[in-house]
Amino acid sequence: MPELPEVETTRLGIKPIILKQTILSVKVRQPKLRWPVTPALAIELPGLNFYSVNRRGKYLLLDTDDGTLLIHLGMSGSLRIVPADSSPAKHDHVDIIFENNIALRYTDPRRFGCILWVNQPIHSHALLKNLGPEPLSDDFDGDYLKLVSAGKQTSVKNFIMDSGVVVGVGNIYANESLFDAKIRPTRKAGNISLKRFQLLAEQIKIVLLNAINVGGTTLRDFTGSDGKPGYFKQSLKVYGRGGEPCTVCNRGLSEIRIGQRSTVYCSDCQT
Ligand SMILES: [Zn+2]
Repeated sequence: MPELPEVETTRLGIKPIILKQTILSVKVRQPKLRWPVTPALAIELPGLNFYSVNRRGKYLLLDTDDGTLLIHLGMSGSLRIVPADSSPAKHDHVDIIFENNIALRYTDPRRFGCILWVNQPIHSHALLKNLGPEPLSDDFDGDYLKLVSAGKQTSVKNFIMDSGVVVGVGNIYANESLFDAKIRPTRKAGNISLKRFQLLAEQIKIVLLNAINVGGTTLRDFTGSDGKPGYFKQSLKVYGRGGEPCTVCNRGLSEIRIGQRSTVYCSDCQT
């Protein structure tokens, strides 16, 4: 599943190529995504240009003078830049074609993503208005986590994966950042000290930034005509390593499920 680092790398990859290029046409081959792609897209977008390419959580926000194109990659979606005349493959559902003879192509085998044309102030949209702060912003720190965790009985892992608390901390990044912060994932959020939350907020930022930096080396995937952006190969310390030795103390890592999600931790290092 594309996580925040993949979405951010997509944003950085497509932005310089599509920014301020006039849109010539929109081809919708398959409108049935998570929500239908409205016919308004092909009518209203031509003649406009994207003056900014932003991200909120895992949503890409492409702004024009008349509205914002909101894109989510769902479970299996990707965006890439192709020559406008390159023939589509089976799951290439939408092309946005620009005057510089390139197309922004949306591919999504499972069709859980969405492409919505929004004519209202974008940040009050139902999908965005209840999102917590961006993890890489200054608003996200230990003080913030301490404040919003007060009285919370939920596990700290579920807590940091809640997009109303902070956006973009997927399962991999929750496992890794809790390991780096030496916090046991099952610990109740409301019982964690400010000092430990400060460390956790720092580690979340580091883990996400590392993943974005790894993604930066695959930027060419977004400009290749046949490249499919793979998910980033990172060196993970705990995720996917249940039963293997802890990288710090060598003890076997424990694996449990929290909220149906695989959770791996070291019972010596994480308390
Ligand atoms: Zn350990």
